[in-house]
Amino acid sequence: MELSIVIPVYNEEASIDPMVERLSSILSDLPSPLEVIFVNDGSRDATEEKLLDAKASHPWLRVVNLRRNFGQHIATYAGFDHSEGRLVVTLDGDLQNDPADIPKIVEKLDEGYDIVCGWRMDRKDAFLSRRVPSLVVNWVIRRDSPHPIHDSGCFLRGYTKEAAEEISRYSSTRSWFPVMFAKLGFRVTEVEVRHHARPDEEDSRHGTITRISQFLSILVGATDNPFLYVVIAGMAAITVSFGALVAAALSLIVGGLSAALTWAVVAIVLAVWGTLVTVSGVVGEYVARVHHEIGRTPRYLVRDIK
Ligand code: UDP
Ligand code: MG
Repeated sequence: MELSIVIPVYNEEASIDPMVERLSSILSDLPSPLEVIFVNDGSRDATEEKLLDAKASHPWLRVVNLRRNFGQHIATYAGFDHSEGRLVVTLDGDLQNDPADIPKIVEKLDEGYDIVCGWRMDRKDAFLSRRVPSLVVNWVIRRDSPHPIHDSGCFLRGYTKEAAEEISRYSSTRSWFPVMFAKLGFRVTEVEVRHHARPDEEDSRHGTITRISQFLSILVGATDNPFLYVVIAGMAAITVSFGALVAAALSLIVGGLSAALTWAVVAIVLAVWGTLVTVSGVVGEYVARVHHEIGRTPRYLVRDIK
């Protein structure tokens, strides 16, 4: 099997037919034999029936039904575990990613990259609730990656079978991040891809709580830097508090008691705040270590032994 395309779907009855149609129209541009695996993530609408109907006329289509709704990322691991292709491409099943971009992803993989990430040009998602958090996350984790990419949230990605297997083996957390794999020595790159609005006009199959949890998960899963920033902020506050202490002493000489008291209060507040923040950042570092242990993130990966 040359290529497996993995598509997690949850209540996407309206998108299945157009999705299958778009996939059929680009198959001739892709390596063959290939398979398209729809992972039905516990849908409660007619997604399964639509998929089975489509399967009757498209032999390359496979359906993996999960027992309940496990979430997009876990559904994708299930797709990885059931895929046989030398290369694996993932994309959303709601037509926000464009199947016509798959050949580009495959071309890059064939250049020798292990992971190829889509970089959504002209992203069609809500600005404040979706794009602003993405900007923050992408900015933080770009600073901590050997192969920085712009868009850590795009689901249209390509993997070698080996990379997909590793991801499924040790990603116990909800999400995984190209930066983690870049750190382990996989070659990661990106290509520009299109992005469309959801055809049904609804925002998402993910609720707000899941969104917030994904945001945190990306932030702490891909990098420990947030703790570093916290410690730096705490230490900076403590340093400034010394300045305020000096200002308090000087005021006592030249400016009088009330100015001295004001500076003293500023010094104390900064010192207390800085100490608390520094301590919580250091505790965060310990927690990060535990997190890596239970997340089974490997310390190294062997490419081959000759
Ligand atoms: N999805 C899934 N399980 C879920 C939620 C979503 O398999 O619990 C699928 C969904 O059907 C879609 C893809 O994951 O194919 C992306 O979901 P969504 O469009 O809601 O995410 P967004 O585009 O808003 O990030
Ligand atoms: Mg979507």
